[in-house]
Amino acid sequence: MALTIAIDGPAASGKGTISKALAAHFGLEYLDTGLLYRAVGHRMLQGEDPVEAARRLTTADLDRDGLRGPEAAQAASRVAAIPEVRAALVDFQRAFAAREGGAVLDGRDIGTVICPDAPVKLYVTASAEVRAERRHKELAARGHKAGYEEVLADILARDARDAGRADAPMRAAGDAVLIDTTRLDVDEAVAQAIAAVEARRPSRGDG
Ligand code: C5P
Repeated sequence: MALTIAIDGPAASGKGTISKALAAHFGLEYLDTGLLYRAVGHRMLQGEDPVEAARRLTTADLDRDGLRGPEAAQAASRVAAIPEVRAALVDFQRAFAAREGGAVLDGRDIGTVICPDAPVKLYVTASAEVRAERRHKELAARGHKAGYEEVLADILARDARDAGRADAPMRAAGDAVLIDTTRLDVDEAVAQAIAAVEARRPSRGDG
């Protein structure tokens, strides 16, 4: 059986970095599901109806400029609270998860809603302050001018909206392994994640 790894957690927790490292280490394809919501949010900002945009989304939409910035992030978190938007994106994510070669997906509801049967689930978190520092540095390196306080406020607003929505709220699956990256560097966080996958992945022949 192909290995599916489901990774959830809040913004800038390190889940993207960990996901990419796991995909490379175990030879799996990687899907950043936040990009789907960012692409829909981006279209909403351009005046489109978010439900229609989600229904018409194609992989080409995921390559658009402007999806990585804070405006797209906030718009993503707003459209992500609309059940019809979430419903329109389920099949694409599940098809990706079922790829023959195995897959890593990261987001907010992968272990709870999209892939509840994934053999390996991680929930990656860190303090809001450390996450804001990381995101602030990342945005500054890309030329964004937002200050630390603004980035922190943004992250807290998004956390509250993502964890508080009725449909598929952000939370750890009951069987997820928790990785708190507040005091870990990238190598330590990746090493913990690899160890968690090794401990949980079905051994060959398990079917
Ligand atoms: O992961 P990223 O920060 O790019 O996600 C942007 C937004 O998309 C999140 O704040 C969340 O509202 C939404 N999202 C979601 N479910 C996912 C992935 C992202 O609701 N699986």
